[in-house]
Amino acid sequence: MKAINSINNIPLHYARLVNHPYGTLGEQRNFSIDSNFHEVLKDAFDEVFANCPLGKPEVVTTAGIFVNKPGQHGHGTAFDLDAVFWKDKTLITTNFIHQKELYLGIESFLRKHFGIVLNYYYRGHEDHWHLDTSVSVDYNESSKSETLYLQMVLKYIYGKPVIIDGLSGPQTRNYTNEVFNRLNINTPITTKANYLKFLDITGKVAFKLSEEKTTPLQLLENLETVINQLPAANKHVVKGAFNTFVDNDETATWLNSVTNHHDLDSVIDHVLAS
Ligand SMILES: [Zn+2]
Repeated sequence: MKAINSINNIPLHYARLVNHPYGTLGEQRNFSIDSNFHEVLKDAFDEVFANCPLGKPEVVTTAGIFVNKPGQHGHGTAFDLDAVFWKDKTLITTNFIHQKELYLGIESFLRKHFGIVLNYYYRGHEDHWHLDTSVSVDYNESSKSETLYLQMVLKYIYGKPVIIDGLSGPQTRNYTNEVFNRLNINTPITTKANYLKFLDITGKVAFKLSEEKTTPLQLLENLETVINQLPAANKHVVKGAFNTFVDNDETATWLNSVTNHHDLDSVIDHVLAS
């Protein structure tokens, strides 16, 4: 066990305090960490930020590494990543809905290094990624957290209308095979080499998409996602107002004139050719 306050010269901050609340830059701190796990984190950060179009960040906030409780945190072999701050841009993990491409780009590369990654859709992890190496890097259909990730990228990166429920079934398998074919990756996804290739290409595609301008249609989709997460009592009336807006003749005319999503195919071709 050793103490660190940065990883690859990126300062590690803590922002879960009354005067440094979640979502702020927080303050630099020392964190106890297992030496081997530290090496994995260094490699992971190296790869994430070498690929990320925003480059190396100025600060990463963490909810903790060593925490005196049972589980991987108790050994200093788990990392809770709250937010990443670049000079002109910030990714706070609770903002997943509004920064899906950047979020999933980062997560794709993290998954190449950590067998366990718990994300936004994994209960209790809306405000941080939990990363640890207690299991090896691969894809198991029975893993809820891995299937959640797979369904999230199928839907939000590759545009497949899959249900995100963490349960693998015929629908998830079919869309996965479609995407693997498009990316020229051998199936099955459960073979480690195939899975690693999928993570790598998906990370690059997601990062490329994150650079493109957000269209009004995407903003509407985000709004719909947020509405669907509302408590039932409020959801009904907000959803009604939303549908009335979208179904209005003039709104529909305007929406039809807006260019649809980014050109996914050309992004994929670009990544495959590079
Ligand atoms: Zn954790």
